[in-house]
Amino acid sequence: MNDRAPGLVAAELVAELVRPEIRALSAYAVAKAEGMVKLDAMENPYPLPESARSQLEATLSQVPINRYPDGGGDALRTALRRAFAIPGELGLILGNGSDELIQIITATLARPGAAMLAPEPSFVMYRMNALYSGMRYVGVSLKPDFELDTAAVLAAIERERPGLVYLAYPNNPTGNLFAARDVETILRAAPGLVVVDEAYHAFAGASFLSRVPEFANLLVLRTMSKVGMAGLRLGYAVAAPEWIAEFNKVRQPYNVNALTQAAVMALIADGSWIAEQASAIRAERQRLGAALARLSGATVYASATNFITLRLDGAARVFEGLKARRILVKNLHGWHPLTANCLRITVGTPAENDQLLAACAELCP
Ligand code: PMP
Repeated sequence: MNDRAPGLVAAELVAELVRPEIRALSAYAVAKAEGMVKLDAMENPYPLPESARSQLEATLSQVPINRYPDGGGDALRTALRRAFAIPGELGLILGNGSDELIQIITATLARPGAAMLAPEPSFVMYRMNALYSGMRYVGVSLKPDFELDTAAVLAAIERERPGLVYLAYPNNPTGNLFAARDVETILRAAPGLVVVDEAYHAFAGASFLSRVPEFANLLVLRTMSKVGMAGLRLGYAVAAPEWIAEFNKVRQPYNVNALTQAAVMALIADGSWIAEQASAIRAERQRLGAALARLSGATVYASATNFITLRLDGAARVFEGLKARRILVKNLHGWHPLTANCLRITVGTPAENDQLLAACAELCP
């Protein structure tokens, strides 16, 4: 081995030892966005209000970063319970983004042969985590109007008996909110845990959080990413304490860093700005959606999120044209048959949205 180029040897070892399904993947590509109007990643476009910024500055310099963080995030969990009305008798766990919680939940439930079920298209990390954890993935296509095909989901539940179901409520990348009674039907029929992923709840006006005590198999997943804190990476999950106790065994001991814990606590102490910004985004979503619907040949789908999914002729060409004009959106064409010719556009500031609409008018005369 010693007289051969280390790169060659490494490539052979990788071919021999790395799981083939991992070798077949490409790493998640985050689009380069410097100098671009960034409307591709469902971020909140508004900066922190001045008062929150000074509160943050005062807090962060006091954090003892020579010490490990509070492993369980006790103080932050108490603050989240107060801010989001999470009853004390329910279990609550924090994650390094809700992405990490998806990883923890999936790894915990990945018994040999167990299946994960999710509608398609939906958040891709569900399927990716099934692959990482060796769970059998069962995707059930949405209807062409992006509604849940409840009959098909129930048939798949009967056939596959999934230990884990993910429902994004509202759904990414389609933006719609599934009917609550369909989610309830699935909760009753599912033999395993049903994760209702409420990443976009601030824009939806609907939630299953208050229903957690009613369903032993319901977990509600949330994130601070869409309400102005994507850079901090904080997600949380609420379920019966029996579930949370198991997830805590899989969670890394210090998964949420001390600066994030302190920052989120400072930011939600007077969190009125969060609701104000979310409501400005909802108002802009309305204006942007109506304007996009006037583009020739465009179908704009109802959105309960901070993004708009639309279908239009030559979406790939429009995507490239926007990129050439320094505007980054998400091209959903090629993701799934149901999103052919679809673009997903995050709602920006009024000025960013005007810039986008002007570019669209040029590209779709
Ligand atoms: N769930 C859904 C439905 C999402 O769209 C996203 C982000 N795109 C996440 C979870 C992950 O969010 P984060 O890891 O930033 O909390």
